[in-house]
Amino acid sequence: MVCKRCAQRYNIESKPGPCPVCHDIWNKLEQLKIEGRVGLRISGFNEEDYLFNPKSTLASDIRRFIEERNKIKWDYDNAETYVDINPEGYELEKGDLFLFGRYWKLKPMISQKRWKRKKFPSVEEIIGEELNKRYNSKQYYMHASGREDVDAMNWGGRAFVMELQKPEHFQEFRGVIEKDGVIALIYGRVPRSFVTLVSDSHFDKEYLCFHEELTSSEIEQLEKTFQNITIKQYTPTRVENRRARKWRFKRIYWVKAFPTFTYIKADAGAYIKELFHGDNGRTTPSFSEVIGREIYCKQLVVVKTWDFILDYLFKTHHIKSVY
Ligand SMILES: [Zn+2]
Repeated sequence: MVCKRCAQRYNIESKPGPCPVCHDIWNKLEQLKIEGRVGLRISGFNEEDYLFNPKSTLASDIRRFIEERNKIKWDYDNAETYVDINPEGYELEKGDLFLFGRYWKLKPMISQKRWKRKKFPSVEEIIGEELNKRYNSKQYYMHASGREDVDAMNWGGRAFVMELQKPEHFQEFRGVIEKDGVIALIYGRVPRSFVTLVSDSHFDKEYLCFHEELTSSEIEQLEKTFQNITIKQYTPTRVENRRARKWRFKRIYWVKAFPTFTYIKADAGAYIKELFHGDNGRTTPSFSEVIGREIYCKQLVVVKTWDFILDYLFKTHHIKSVY
């Protein structure tokens, strides 16, 4: 037979003594003090013999018991604390924090992610370490929307979500981080699911390339040829060990050329360096092909990313504090 609380739940008779269903967990749960977003995990109880009404279960009773005594919101995906409950008692585990932001890379030779063998400083480390002064998390990961080459710069801003695992607290940080040639704007807290939204996204981009001098007739040729044109690009030689080897078709929307620099608007994932030199015919048409001599993009800069939809999505996904 079961305790009073369980008897009431299943609408059966109670009996004094240890309860075989709830294992008198309630005394222990009285000690539990939590707040914020909480994920609940219950295991090890057996109430099958008493489950006459699936709407009134031990689990739902435990939830009610906890929420009556604590200022919390049940939110498994964005939990700040996970409560593991079993017949022995309860244990608490920290959740993870996700911050949405954009970074600007104002000098070249900074990689996006940390390297196994450290060759360059990374955007991930520069921003992650600064955030960790506030959060002291166990580990951090940057999930960005695409990436630029190590030697390229980004003056247009690139969206990312920084994952901070088991931080000391969950107070939202919004603000600017500026360090070692990287600027980051942190907009605020987002759900775990925002990571895939950002890291799976692809947006058209505008680039600025610095190059050797073009003549005015070459400028004319380039601007005329690369006007709403689809180019063919076979996986570039420099990345063929990392990327699937295949032809890709990319749109070049426009080219605005000047003697020593050129602006280009292109589809997400177009290889811009190869658009210049042609990669031995693997990119066609290319600038070299059109002007009939070799020309290289000496410095590549991302100046605009058409990702403004993410700002709208941030507004609708922003996680506000429940304290
Ligand atoms: Zn009981």
